[in-house]
Amino acid sequence: MVDSKELIEISETYGAHNYHPLPVVLSKGEGIWVWDVEGRKYLDFLSCYSAVNQGHCHPRLIAALTGQAKKLTLTSRAFHNDQLGPFLKELCELTGFEMALPMNTGAEAVETAIKASRRWGYMVKGIPDGKAEIIACAGNFHGRTTTIIGFSTEEEYKRGFGPFTPGFKVVPYGDARALEEAITPETAAFLVEPIQGEAGVVVPPEGYLREVRRICSEKKVLFVADEVQTGFCRTGKMFCWEHEGARPDMMILGKALGGGYYPVSAVVASREILGVFDPGSHGSTFGGNPLGAAVAREAIRILVEEKLDERAAELGAWFMEELRAIESPHVDHVRGKGLLIGVVLKPGAGGARPFCEKLQAEGLLAKETHEDVIRFAPPLVIEKSDLQWALERIRKVLG
Ligand SMILES: *Cc1c(COP(=O)(O)O)cnc(C)c1O
Repeated sequence: MVDSKELIEISETYGAHNYHPLPVVLSKGEGIWVWDVEGRKYLDFLSCYSAVNQGHCHPRLIAALTGQAKKLTLTSRAFHNDQLGPFLKELCELTGFEMALPMNTGAEAVETAIKASRRWGYMVKGIPDGKAEIIACAGNFHGRTTTIIGFSTEEEYKRGFGPFTPGFKVVPYGDARALEEAITPETAAFLVEPIQGEAGVVVPPEGYLREVRRICSEKKVLFVADEVQTGFCRTGKMFCWEHEGARPDMMILGKALGGGYYPVSAVVASREILGVFDPGSHGSTFGGNPLGAAVAREAIRILVEEKLDERAAELGAWFMEELRAIESPHVDHVRGKGLLIGVVLKPGAGGARPFCEKLQAEGLLAKETHEDVIRFAPPLVIEKSDLQWALERIRKVLG
């Protein structure tokens, strides 16, 4: 049998080194648990960056995927298929928006939102052609395309990949005043994450999104929320903006929309906004395919019927309190919402990576974000007793 060490060597030899994974090779998953090739069992405390909120290999998703796989998987958008319409309708009913545009990955949905914002800027707001501007936030993460990394403030994401797309401006995150001052008559949209996951689970000040909503309405600027990571129950609400009742004009969705089975992403907005697309203006060979649509429909039903938003809210609040109560010489503070939690280490702690390696040895898979934050984001089907189990191990490693 090929062991973990050998499989890692093969990956390192034949794969580009654009990741630095923990040294564990997984071969099986079920609910909140994953197993490596040697049969060691781990609690998944990352959930593929919130793409498996429903847990690994959910039986209902196995059924949805295999059932559809035997019928029809791909039509392209040259033809209609019988899954896409119902999927878009159900997504609109869930989110309360009028229209949806399906893509595959989060980055593609972000690109779609950028295109929609610019066209809306020209066709509806009346911005002079070629002048539309989009404002984003320092510390943002919206994906890895050349356009998206162009407005990242993370040098590591950008180095050697220029020149970048013009038309973007960056303001500090969590600072509504800075947004207000940066807006000009040529501003089409403000693109923002309700919580910055990749930046280290950065939660903006209370009331920020409400202020953003007010400012965007006053200045006729689209409020575009990237809920790819925070959406679908992760923070204790179906969508994170609901915590402040600050409904955006456009919402970007991905990750858990595919239930860990299939890349499915989408943009939802009003008819006025998504109506700017006409045939030929945008598309994707795989976007809206019947296999992904069938999986996404079931992924949504699971979130709703298993009330994973309530579970994340209750368990997250309790778990965060328990984490804060740990007496640790290494922890500076704990932040987050629902079951999206960042443990911020002190400058002298030696970084988050060694702690993640120690947690791995204890049977808990978590990953560092940036140098000094450990992200805890288990599948939302987790039970309180499992979190107790995790806490014992976390106490041992951090205490
Ligand atoms: C993961 C992520 C993306 C990009 O999604 P991909 O599917 O990796 O392209 C975009 N925005 C946010 C907030 C994310 O967390």
